[in-house]
Amino acid sequence: MAKKQFKAESKRLLDLMINSIYTHQEIFLREIISNASDAMDKLAYTALTDDKISIDRDQMTITLTPGQDSLTVSDMGIGMNKEEMEENLGTICKSGSLGFKQAMEKSEDIDIIGQFGVGFYAAFMVASNVTVISKKYGEDTAWQWTSNGADGYTITEAHRDHPGTDIVMTLKADTEDEKYSRFLEEYELRNLVKKYSDYIRYPIRMEVTKSRKKEDSEEYESYTEWETLNSMIPLWNKAKKDVTEEEYEGFYREKFYDFHKPLRTVHFSAEGTVSFKALLYIPGKAPYDFNTQEYKRGLQLYSSGVMIMESCEELIPEHFRFVRGVVDSQDLSLNISREMLQHNRQLTVIAKNIEKKIKAELTSMLENDREKYEEFYAAFSRQLKYGVVADYGAHKQATQDLVLFTSRKEKKLISLKEYVAAMAEGQEKIYYVCGQSADRLAALPQVKTLENKGYDVLLMTDEVDEFVPQTLMTYAEKQFCNAATEDLGLQTEDEKKALEEKAEELKGLLTFVQDTLKDSVKEVRISADLGDAPVAMRPGVGMSFEMEKYMKRMNPEFAFPVDRILELNPEHPAVKAMEKAMVSDTQKAKDYANLLCAQAQLMAELPLEDPAAYTALVCKLMN
Ligand code: ADP
Repeated sequence: MAKKQFKAESKRLLDLMINSIYTHQEIFLREIISNASDAMDKLAYTALTDDKISIDRDQMTITLTPGQDSLTVSDMGIGMNKEEMEENLGTICKSGSLGFKQAMEKSEDIDIIGQFGVGFYAAFMVASNVTVISKKYGEDTAWQWTSNGADGYTITEAHRDHPGTDIVMTLKADTEDEKYSRFLEEYELRNLVKKYSDYIRYPIRMEVTKSRKKEDSEEYESYTEWETLNSMIPLWNKAKKDVTEEEYEGFYREKFYDFHKPLRTVHFSAEGTVSFKALLYIPGKAPYDFNTQEYKRGLQLYSSGVMIMESCEELIPEHFRFVRGVVDSQDLSLNISREMLQHNRQLTVIAKNIEKKIKAELTSMLENDREKYEEFYAAFSRQLKYGVVADYGAHKQATQDLVLFTSRKEKKLISLKEYVAAMAEGQEKIYYVCGQSADRLAALPQVKTLENKGYDVLLMTDEVDEFVPQTLMTYAEKQFCNAATEDLGLQTEDEKKALEEKAEELKGLLTFVQDTLKDSVKEVRISADLGDAPVAMRPGVGMSFEMEKYMKRMNPEFAFPVDRILELNPEHPAVKAMEKAMVSDTQKAKDYANLLCAQAQLMAELPLEDPAAYTALVCKLMN
């Protein structure tokens, strides 16, 4: 029988696996057992939908058989036929292998193994030869796949009485550094099963040696007995007090292929119209595919311990899509279909419950463990902000208290609640500004004016930020005010009147500047909000400059320029100089107007239409 070669990429990966020395070689057992469990799930699932198959779930077991120099893991699962062996064991997971290899070269942590669907090959870390004997359910012929790793594999016909699979691993010879034979020891195997596979829902059985007192004698005799090594209780069915932090974490890593620690574990149950148990995790880092189509939001759905859906998106709202976890409800039927799920009332109740719980959990983290919350926020802030904005603010109750922005005053991230609580005496509005850099925003004249009054300003630098106040409009009954684009509302009635009078007085100047700049600005007016800056550019009603830029990036075709309104600070010497020049030297006054307009544009982070003309103008005025 000719040897077949592994596909090239698989072979390289295999080499890496065989020749590297990993600290966690022991996880091979977890991988093999979990494949066995999957294969039995598949059979059980097929039986649900096919009347011809009758299986008794309760009779299904996984067995471990340590021999002289090999360990065999057997299951009563769906099995593989020849083609499937070729397909499943001859290629290392088609899509994931390259990613795995790259991650492997960077990391020593073998725990990432499951992430890439190459679990089976972990056997080669401890075995010099792996033989798989399998008989597919419903077929007559059994097949044997055998390989000693690097130089390929063979597939031959074999014998097996019942459907299922045996994985026979001939262990490598012990070396000074590595004692592979420990994987034949009862004690070691028992520990490994407890550690990694305790909750597997099928009994993992092994024949163990025990000793007992002989009858009517003081002597002891040894005897063997089949024993179930795992408790089979899914973690989520255990009482919280019986689960250690490590178990929670281990389960998370293994189930969701994340080698970072989760930030929070949320384990709870609910009774009532619908009863369910949930074990949820809030990750600390976004998975690599989080912002792609590949990432599917959803929780694993179980009904009385049997998985019915790998990823049920109805259980978790989009704004909390980063949550991973498991939900188990005895009230759901086992063979519920996808279409039925969408309109399932019980599921809606569960989802509402989960949303509330996650919100409460994040709020408590925000209030009691700020550092952790900020770590979380660094990874998922956008998701929450999109949550505020999505569907015209329909989900704001769940999300608005969870978003943070940089406070000008505190120089750190604060929540809207914190902003409002710290508002100064007499302050009516929540002030914010939007742009690309917090430093530049802090330097805006309007921000300085507010600062002088002791008012805080939120510096928003993320693209989506501006949509948050625009969607919310108010928070805790306080209006949002974009300090760069709207009237700050600081003047008293008397001051307003005085300003109007001043405008009347300066009418000549305003008309002159307006005429001079008619191609660039829509309106020229005076403002009392500018502090010690001479000018500022404000957008016309309805849109901000940031929004204009955003639209331009998103779709230039639909982008349209926002009206520019030039505001002058009547008290500023530069404006006064322009006023003077208007009488003595009209050309100079025009130059001043152009110069001030360009400055206002630069401050607003708007591009100059003609930078060359601007520099020429500056040079001219220097002469
Ligand atoms: P993954 O389990 O992530 O798909 P593996 O490399 O562990 O990747 O396994 C590859 C494939 O081999 C599995 O998807 C499955 O189809 C098949 N397989 C492995 N072990 C068994 C088994 N005990 N019974 C049936 N099929 C198996």
